[in-house]
Amino acid sequence: MKSYENIFISSLTTMRIGGIARHVLEIEAEKDIPEAYGFASAYWYPTYIISGGANTIGRDEGLDGVILLNRLRGFDDKDGVLTIAAGENWDNIVDYACEKGYTGIEALSRIPGLVGAAPAQNIGAYGQDVSQVLKSATAFDTATNKMVLLEKKDFQFGYRKSIMNTTAKGRFFVTSVTLELKKGQMQRPFYNSMERFIEDNKCTDFSPKGIREIVSAIRADKLPDPREKASSGSFFKNVYLNDREAEKAEEKGYPVRRGQDGNKINSAWFIEQCGFKGQLLYGMRVNAAAPLVLINESAGTYANLARARGQITSTVYDKFGYWLEQEPVEIINTKNRGAAR
Ligand SMILES: Cc1cc2nc3c(=O)[nH]c(=O)nc-3n(C[C@H](O)[C@H](O)[C@H](O)COP(=O)(O)OP(=O)(O)OC[C@H]3O[C@@H](n4cnc5c(N)ncnc54)[C@H](O)[C@@H]3O)c2cc1C
Repeated sequence: MKSYENIFISSLTTMRIGGIARHVLEIEAEKDIPEAYGFASAYWYPTYIISGGANTIGRDEGLDGVILLNRLRGFDDKDGVLTIAAGENWDNIVDYACEKGYTGIEALSRIPGLVGAAPAQNIGAYGQDVSQVLKSATAFDTATNKMVLLEKKDFQFGYRKSIMNTTAKGRFFVTSVTLELKKGQMQRPFYNSMERFIEDNKCTDFSPKGIREIVSAIRADKLPDPREKASSGSFFKNVYLNDREAEKAEEKGYPVRRGQDGNKINSAWFIEQCGFKGQLLYGMRVNAAAPLVLINESAGTYANLARARGQITSTVYDKFGYWLEQEPVEIINTKNRGAAR
């Protein structure tokens, strides 16, 4: 296990915001995990896990605690049942699956980050999400200091949600993920944006490899490459409504999309309606091609990010009555050490 002191959280995250973390421990083997948590609890330090940092934001005050950097490597494929160490790059796995002709994660192409975060955040795109293919995961449970096997149901998946970012935040360190994939391909109708692209470009290959190409092309047009532009991808979650709420929203003329995953309003619509599309707010650019994405162009600090977020959320709330929820997780420097893992 490698250990570092006084590292900027901004250097560990794709949003490139966040002050100094007192300790950073690089987890390279399962045996490092109890040691790392043991160190943190001996000093009553709060702990946070960072994998790729593509959905994590640091605050300006940093963290008087310990960041556990997930760097666990390894991979096994038994006829489409993939068991992958948490520190593998997610998109490399998607690429491998597509090459093998496995369906189930091809629409999740080009999502930045590592495998361990994928079930924690229940990553999703274009009609697929990790909950649809996750079989189980192994994790270190800080409540018992033991390795555990978590079945799919244990995650209590929802839209971009699992117990790991809701009720059991910080309790588990996922060490490996098992996905159950099958040979085959996605069935039409696809998401609207995919159908539009297919029609415009006369695409006919809907094999996993073909879908990967389609999704990659759509994403390249809309989403910033984290190596070039600092962002966490979608900064706000979409709005999901029950049937009654959806009817009311439709009466008001809001564009509700009724799909298999529920009744949804794309939050980008609210942001656009409020005139924020393409705007620069306190150094945060509201991405013109995909307004859910906020790019840290010159904001530099969490304070500026918070100002931009506040302006957007309060304007959308005043105009439409919906409070947009933030997607990326924040590293919070709790004064009450040890209480907030
Ligand atoms: C340009 C861009 C586009 C994106 N597009 C999408 C998209 O289409 N769909 C989508 O769903 N997301 C998208 N994202 C968000 C992001 O890529 C995903 O949430 C991804 O899973 C983050 O992986 P990571 O390894 O970087 O996670 P991190 O930011 O390191 O961690 C995210 C959360 O997971 C927890 N975590 C990480 N590793 C573990 C572990 N081993 N055990 C337990 N908890 C862990 C962390 O503590 C944190 O709470 C996008 C982000 C960017 C920058």
